Amino acid sequence: MTVVQRTTAESSALPVPASPQADAHLRNAADLAGSLAVVPALGLTTADAERRAAAWGANELAEPVRRPQWLRLLDQFRSWLIGILLVAAVIAGVIGEVKDALVITVVLLINATIGYLQESRAERSLEALRRMLVPTARVRRDGQVRVIPAGSLVPGDIVLLEGGDRVPADGRLVIAESVEAAEAALTGESHPVAKTTAPTAADGEKHVPVAERTCMLFMNTALTRGRAEMIVTATGMRTEVGAIAEALRTDAEPSSPLQVQMDSLGRRLAVVSGIAVAAYALVALLRGEELADLALRAVALAVAAIPEGLPAVLALTLALGVHRMAHRGAIVKRLASVEALGSATVVCSDKTGTLTLNEMTTRVLWAAGSSYDVTGEGYDTTGTVLPANGEGGMDLHDALLPFALCNDARLTPDGIIGDPTEAALMVLAAKVGLDADPRTHMTRTGEVPFDPAAKYMATFHAVAEDRVSVQAKGAVDVLLDRCTHVLTAHGPVPLDAERRREVTDVARRLGSQGLRVLGAATATTDQPHPKEVTGLTFTAIAGISDPPRPQARDAVALAQAAGVTVKMVTGDHADTAAAIARELGITGDIVSGTELARMSDQALTDCIENVGVFARVAPEHKVTIVEALARRGHIVAMTGDGVNDAAALRSAHIGVAMGVTGTDVAKEAADMVLTDDDFSTIVRAVREGRTIYDNIVTFVRFQLSTNIGAVFTLLATVLAGLPAPLSAIQLLWVNIIMDGPPAMALAIDPPRDNVMQRPPRPPRERILDARRLAAITRSGAVMAAGTLGVFAGARHLTDAATAATMAFTTFVLFQLCNALASRNDGGSVLARHQLHNRILWICLAAVLTLQIIAVQLPVAQGVFDTVPLSPVQWAICLATASTVLLTEHAWRAAQARSGRPADGDDENCPSKTPSFRRLVRLKK
Ligand code: ADP
Ligand code: MG
Repeated sequence: MTVVQRTTAESSALPVPASPQADAHLRNAADLAGSLAVVPALGLTTADAERRAAAWGANELAEPVRRPQWLRLLDQFRSWLIGILLVAAVIAGVIGEVKDALVITVVLLINATIGYLQESRAERSLEALRRMLVPTARVRRDGQVRVIPAGSLVPGDIVLLEGGDRVPADGRLVIAESVEAAEAALTGESHPVAKTTAPTAADGEKHVPVAERTCMLFMNTALTRGRAEMIVTATGMRTEVGAIAEALRTDAEPSSPLQVQMDSLGRRLAVVSGIAVAAYALVALLRGEELADLALRAVALAVAAIPEGLPAVLALTLALGVHRMAHRGAIVKRLASVEALGSATVVCSDKTGTLTLNEMTTRVLWAAGSSYDVTGEGYDTTGTVLPANGEGGMDLHDALLPFALCNDARLTPDGIIGDPTEAALMVLAAKVGLDADPRTHMTRTGEVPFDPAAKYMATFHAVAEDRVSVQAKGAVDVLLDRCTHVLTAHGPVPLDAERRREVTDVARRLGSQGLRVLGAATATTDQPHPKEVTGLTFTAIAGISDPPRPQARDAVALAQAAGVTVKMVTGDHADTAAAIARELGITGDIVSGTELARMSDQALTDCIENVGVFARVAPEHKVTIVEALARRGHIVAMTGDGVNDAAALRSAHIGVAMGVTGTDVAKEAADMVLTDDDFSTIVRAVREGRTIYDNIVTFVRFQLSTNIGAVFTLLATVLAGLPAPLSAIQLLWVNIIMDGPPAMALAIDPPRDNVMQRPPRPPRERILDARRLAAITRSGAVMAAGTLGVFAGARHLTDAATAATMAFTTFVLFQLCNALASRNDGGSVLARHQLHNRILWICLAAVLTLQIIAVQLPVAQGVFDTVPLSPVQWAICLATASTVLLTEHAWRAAQARSGRPADGDDENCPSKTPSFRRLVRLKK
């Protein structure tokens, strides 16, 4: 265990011993609190916490050591391609071509710098993203509960935790209600372990293994169940996880499937270009070209053939896209999820808080046999509870007591703390006059915490000598199973079949109005810690409204138009779920958790396409749902917030956690975190995911057609016995300088108009399928033909130098037009979409200016071996270059006429059903 370094001046002010954590598990909590100089009920004072923070440092694990910047710049030169070019520069220098050597070196430096800048930009934006997910902790300081960044915890802090929280530091439990913790990361124990406040018994001096310290919680493990308070005993690198932090450091993010695809594409291109270079060299040798000249040009051809800019542009595109999404409420944790989002076919969404606002207001009450209307809005306690039939009601205190006692929410002037459902019930209690919070005088002696699988919660309160009052609330059907009596106007009566039906009917009536329905029940027993919550008397039903989010309806429609099915998955009752689903436009059958549990995998797989709502499900059913959908070939986004949702979030292709209401455990398991918990953010993320993919396709297409065009041009001239129209310097220039900025601009193209009017991309689609490869070859061939045509024609009509300059210029102008031709609108290349990317136009103007300089400016002419061109010659080059745009236009028009989809990514898609086509047409 590390001994902490402290200055003597500070240590005298601190009552904290050097290594307080070492024996914390052996001592009782009060004793430990004493030596850490903290009163658990009050917590530290702010001043004390600051003093301790100064002495102990931040509660952070050490960051992995970063590679220094200059080394990372050097990394850019490590590719073998660049190596070849460097060799070429040396060869050029040796044979006296000093100019070539210099230019190659300068271009390589520029290329490295661009690559370095792009990569650090990408990294910075991912870093910023990580900072958006800083963990927080609930602590008691100055006698009040506060939420602070976990990094500012100090030894002695009192931390409040509940099921689903990540433990933010090592600590000794002072309160532990049904606490279980998942400590696999630390101890390897895969099952959650039960935790209590009792000190661990140690046999003499024997060391107690971490796994057996049952009164301790450890940093970066998670509370899976219960409610706890702990005194922080160790922070940062002094924690148990800090001691092994070195071992836990993870490497950089693994490459996404797209990046892997790109890499293999790069390798294949290298092989193809190797063959092309060999063929070129052979023919040139046979023709007796000079060896040095040939070497330079062969290298240039290799460079021309390989898109060295692509990986950096890809990394930056993904990073910028992810950044953009984060600013719109969706924090993507893994780049690979961006791709998955683009091909998502099903979104399974929680109802409460995601599709609805999670702003709970009790509207209707049924208590002791009568119905009441509740007035008032939101969490404001002004409002009345009046009998629905206008007759005088009765005293509702007893009937509503379970709602108020079995409740962890607090109403404060600044808003609510805790579960909105519970807050709504506190408001209801206040409206019937239970406003002096009964929790203050009926102290809680035990509890069964709410668990979405059990769907109820209970608390125990000592009322008198060996009398314990049980207060419960939860789903009506669940509570009724635990009830023997029901409260009526004449007191409790046995719950016979008829009374049971009466209660169930009320619950169903409220549910079918879309209200969230909670029941209340109570009992008195003589057992201090009742094991079973049974023998209750049912007292009341609350009907709570939770309106759908206003944007959700449109978002559902948008998703459906985009071929993405929306399914609701909720723990709520089928009636409530069905009513809300109807309001939101979610269609399909309703399947309950009980039915789901009875179905075989096969039966579920067979019917799942038609299911729109899964109601009364437990969290573990979500995994079953994801698996059934995956078996049908779906790419599934699944939302979740609780501890028990973690498994489903991991098994879904895109696990989506709620940023506001979600637990730390869910957020850690998820691929994407919603900062606003809003369903429409998921749909927006799908749109972004599709756009990013579209853009990647566009710039890959743009860059590769340049490469292919250059290779075709060079090979054709060799075969035709013409001199090479493009020099090594010129090729490098086009490939790296002229293509880079337009490719970047294409990478940030705004979404296409039709992006949400076409079905999802088939998940296994390769970025270069046959169709796109054909398009690239087509453009490359047009470019080669145009360049050669100008070259050959000009050699007839003018001198060789002018002809070469015109060929060079034509090839560059081809890039401008090809950038536009590559933009994939699924429709005409002359569509309005072309005007939407201002940066692209600026880049194109810059490229044009550079080319004018390269041709017309005497200094540049020396470098590029160019001669000035006349306006007519420029016009010829431009006219030729525009053919790539015109042929693409003609091609798409012909495709459209023959009824095939244009190059719009929606061929071969399984979900392109006739009904989908009809829907798209309706939308237009
Ligand atoms: P969802 O989040 O999908 O709406 P939950 O799992 O939160 O579903 O709730 C399922 C059911 O559990 C609800 O219909 C309600 O009856 C009950 N319930 C919800 N919250 C609480 C709570 N805090 N205490 C007791 N019962 C609850
Ligand atoms: Mg819930």
